[in-house]
Amino acid sequence: MKYAILGDIHANLEALQAVLRKCQELGVDKYLCIGDLVGYNASPRECVELVRSMNLEVVIKGNHDEQASGSTRLAGFNPQAAMAIEWTRQQISDDQRAWLNALPMLKNLGAKMTLVHATLDMPEKWGYIFDPLTAAASLHYQFTQLCFFGHTHVPLAFDKFGDVKGGPFDEVRIQAGHKYMINCGSVGQPRDGDPRASFITYSPEEMLVNLHRVEYDIAATQQKIRQAGLPERLWQRLATGR
Ligand code: ZN
Repeated sequence: MKYAILGDIHANLEALQAVLRKCQELGVDKYLCIGDLVGYNASPRECVELVRSMNLEVVIKGNHDEQASGSTRLAGFNPQAAMAIEWTRQQISDDQRAWLNALPMLKNLGAKMTLVHATLDMPEKWGYIFDPLTAAASLHYQFTQLCFFGHTHVPLAFDKFGDVKGGPFDEVRIQAGHKYMINCGSVGQPRDGDPRASFITYSPEEMLVNLHRVEYDIAATQQKIRQAGLPERLWQRLATGR
């Protein structure tokens, strides 16, 4: 069995399609999504439609999904992100809005795996995990061996065995007695300085998690963002992965 865990797709259809092609090459059996299907980029309808058509076992709600499917004031969003959310609200169908709104914030898959967008201690507060200290707060509320999450758009792996250690990774070998929080990076707007789309695979039989990076047609995505009249910064950042 091979799982692919994808997240922070952010309405980037070209990146999502490239990731799904790579997953087929890798022989992925099941897909899980840790949220933020929409926001920032210009293909929210298409990305929601594509993910829905895949009938995933788990799709988690991210903060952009929450805001795009709601009508509340955009607290905590920078001006460019807020503009994209307002634009996204006009783009998605009522049916898509209801579907996004009904997504869960947290889900356990069997006794082994937890999926969340941001943190486990306060999933609805959308905090950021960038270091062992903030990972430790979440690990305290983690009742499975593995937690996959996103939100920062930076792939990082934290390992709790007594202390919590962690940082960038290519591969994590799961060991008995350890607990892990693994951020799968972002499909649609990477921020670790590598512009390629990011996702992970997990093989329970091999006890192995792997990070994958995939090139996609960034220029095509940028063109759509410009055509939609969204802020310049949103298309510019894709080329640098920041
Ligand atoms: Zn995000």
